[in-house]
Amino acid sequence: MITINEHYKKLQASYLFSDIARRVATYQQNHPDQRIIKLGIGDVTKPLPPACIQAFHQAVEEMGKEETFRGYGPEQGYPFLREAIAAQDFQARGADIAADEIFISDGAKCDTGNIQEIFGTDIVIAIPDPVYPVYLDTNVMAGRTGVYRDGRYDGIVYLESRKDNQFIPDLPQTPVDLIYLCFPNNPTGSTISREALQVWVDYARQNKALILFDAAYEAFIRDPALPKSIYELPGAREVAIEFRSFSKSGGFTGTRCAYTVVPKDCRAFDHQGNEQPVHPLWNRRHSTKFNGVSYPVQRAAAALYTDEGKKQAATLVDYYMGNAALIRSEITALGYDCVGGDHSPYIWIDSRTDSWQFFDRLLEQAGVVCTPGSGFGRCGAGYIRLSAFNSRENVEQALQRIRESLS
Ligand SMILES: *Cc1c(COP(=O)(O)O)cnc(C)c1O
Repeated sequence: MITINEHYKKLQASYLFSDIARRVATYQQNHPDQRIIKLGIGDVTKPLPPACIQAFHQAVEEMGKEETFRGYGPEQGYPFLREAIAAQDFQARGADIAADEIFISDGAKCDTGNIQEIFGTDIVIAIPDPVYPVYLDTNVMAGRTGVYRDGRYDGIVYLESRKDNQFIPDLPQTPVDLIYLCFPNNPTGSTISREALQVWVDYARQNKALILFDAAYEAFIRDPALPKSIYELPGAREVAIEFRSFSKSGGFTGTRCAYTVVPKDCRAFDHQGNEQPVHPLWNRRHSTKFNGVSYPVQRAAAALYTDEGKKQAATLVDYYMGNAALIRSEITALGYDCVGGDHSPYIWIDSRTDSWQFFDRLLEQAGVVCTPGSGFGRCGAGYIRLSAFNSRENVEQALQRIRESLS
């Protein structure tokens, strides 16, 4: 008899985006002439930088000629991309990371979801609340949680991000082994200082724990004093794995390219308590289950490290950050408390009411779609997320409508 993975039964169906779609469709039916503006989008809206398109085209041409055709590439990624990443994203910022510690992949979603399989099934996991759902669901699938009740899974230590801790979780009260952190954060848009991140690195060192640091939004950091990489902090190489993506920084959500950093000194422990390097484990998993990102896509990603590409990508990010600044100042002027939008494309707003109630109000009165914070976890209740991924015109019009309906 073929049986199923019973852990999948514990997964909570996410009704967040289908609920949003249903309410938007109903509203549109009743208001056929209203142009709805979606500020709930977690996806970029601007096209790829021209430097990427040019490199992409050229690589496709190479694939069409016998002399330059390429078949399987290295599973870990081509050296031209890994070397550019190591030099520019890390060494240039004083972070000691080498090219052979970089693993190119087709997404940080896959990497943050897959990484858990190289660790024990009996470890204690700490996960932020509110959270990017991938971290939680992949551990449920792997059987690391108990059942779901009252909005939470048994066996998970929730790291609460609330107004009273400036949306930076406190250290856990009980010992944990694997810690997921994401800064700049999705959904709250909060950022972490060097000092606050050092507390986590020190905790991991003292408690034989390991940090999974999701830095998918590092390109949005404006303040040079804030860490872009966890490896800018002393001691992090032994206790942290970092995830990066070209999705939000270079408009690659539909093109697919990202990378994971596993330093050679990063360690975990076997059941005898002996230290084991994590790099060979991830290398083995990656090369067994993944056959590399396509050559043209890696060439397109490498173009982001040229002078032209860097300028063009910075222009993209600046554009979204201009939107974020507008959203922040308008929402603040209307008397609402918010976080994010200064070093991230997301603005997390205290709606002072139920998340869905506020969602309905924005939709009904302004024709604007947001994301209800309660969809990201218990601590998201009462909040909504606005996204800066949109055109300036749409953002300006949405804000004007919000101003007229809320003030
Ligand atoms: C968008 C996003 C990513 C990037 O995912 P990709 O699979 O690389 O597109 C990773 N983490 C978070 C929190 C995100 O919001």
